[in-house]
Amino acid sequence: MNLEEDDFRDDNIDRDGASLLLFGAEHFMRRAIELGQQAATEDEVPVGAVIVYKHNIIAAAYNQRENLADPTAHAEMIAITQAAAHLKSWRLIDCELYVTLEPCPMCAGAILQSRIPRVIYGAADSKAGAVESLYHLLTDSRLNHQCDVRGGVLALECGQMLTEFFESKRRLGKK
Ligand code: ZN
Repeated sequence: MNLEEDDFRDDNIDRDGASLLLFGAEHFMRRAIELGQQAATEDEVPVGAVIVYKHNIIAAAYNQRENLADPTAHAEMIAITQAAAHLKSWRLIDCELYVTLEPCPMCAGAILQSRIPRVIYGAADSKAGAVESLYHLLTDSRLNHQCDVRGGVLALECGQMLTEFFESKRRLGKK
């Protein structure tokens, strides 16, 4: 293990490190938001996700539950599969997952299985969030893997994308 990997796995980020992370976090979250917007144009619930490895995006996906008629086709699930294919490994060590909405129990389970060390999400999900809202699956010390979690990155934009999508659905439904 080299020094860089050691640094990366340190959960106790100092203030400077945290602000640096946040600066980068907004950049990658904006890409995730773009992917969510793409989902909306395809009449999918707008959630986008990217996985970053050594400062490069190696996976970019959005929710495709309707298009694929697949209840597991959440943005995070598709991104994890892409990243594992890219790295030719099921272990996504040294990766960061950015997702516009707090992961659900299924996606949190996949995050744990893939050993992703860091998860950054936008809007909280009071109805299905399994990271901080309803459960704390990514930081539960009883499980064999824990993540460094950062929520609320560009939360307003991430949440607005969902609100606008459901509002326009309702408007169309009334016509
Ligand atoms: Zn999910």
